[in-house]
Amino acid sequence: MSELSGRVAVVTGSTSGIGEGIARMLARAGADIVLNGFGPPERIEALQREIADEAGVRVVYSPADMRRASEIEALIRLAEDRFGSVDILVNNAGIQHVAPVEDFPPEKWDDVLAINLTSCFHAIRFALPAMRRNGWGRIVNIASVHGLVASAQKAAYVAAKHGLVGLTKVVGLETAQSPVTCNAICPGWVATPLVKAQIEDRAKREGKPVEAAERDLLAEKQPSLQFVTPEQLGGMVVFLCSPAAEQMRGQVISMDGGWSAQ
Ligand code: NAD
Repeated sequence: MSELSGRVAVVTGSTSGIGEGIARMLARAGADIVLNGFGPPERIEALQREIADEAGVRVVYSPADMRRASEIEALIRLAEDRFGSVDILVNNAGIQHVAPVEDFPPEKWDDVLAINLTSCFHAIRFALPAMRRNGWGRIVNIASVHGLVASAQKAAYVAAKHGLVGLTKVVGLETAQSPVTCNAICPGWVATPLVKAQIEDRAKREGKPVEAAERDLLAEKQPSLQFVTPEQLGGMVVFLCSPAAEQMRGQVISMDGGWSAQ
């Protein structure tokens, strides 16, 4: 039996990038998966089939928009109705917008805060009561190195991720004497569509090939000069679901190639 077989994992924003990698790693460890996020229906159906076939687990998809509390509630209820529970909640959905604070569009601020922070509050409050009742639960928030340090032009993202680190600590304390743990992972640069857009903008702005912009991006902040991979992050989520991690509560784990050590 795989270590997470019989467990049910909801991974928000798992149709792409980091969330997809985490969903694949949780499935390989035996968990049934609830996928969520946007994208072309045929690509999502293919992903659903691929994960189910590769890992031999059940996979369903919810199109819930993380900006809406009612849809987040529906996502948690879908997992409970289809698979009986939510044992593992990975709050991963996120967006970025880059602009100086005085030009930052207020509607972008609202979206970034709603998706990157408020959705995590809603998902936790909808999932936690049943985790407590069932006697086991793991909540993993995908924050960012920007939950610990700032970069210019990312006011909403940095505010949301610092907020998510704070929320993680509060939930870690409130569940400290329960069988539910809550921790956060803070990745540095990961080569997903979210970051590729920033690399392409930089290449255009500086008139450089994309490969050079990529090298510069890493050299500026990430001492390892290598991207973190979605699979490495998924491996850490699986570890946080293991018995060895039971006393990790309200912790903030950096996986950033040394970025935050500077
Ligand atoms: P991505 O753009 O590849 O994936 C984002 C996912 O979120 C997609 O599945 C998308 O459909 C989904 N999503 C976006 N808006 C949504 C909404 N309103 N409702 C539901 N789903 C929505 O990005 P990624 O790089 O994989 O980022 C995933 C998480 O990791 C984010 O929280 C991001 O802040 C964080 N992160 C990323 C990096 C990085 O370098 N890529 C670094 C640190 C933290």
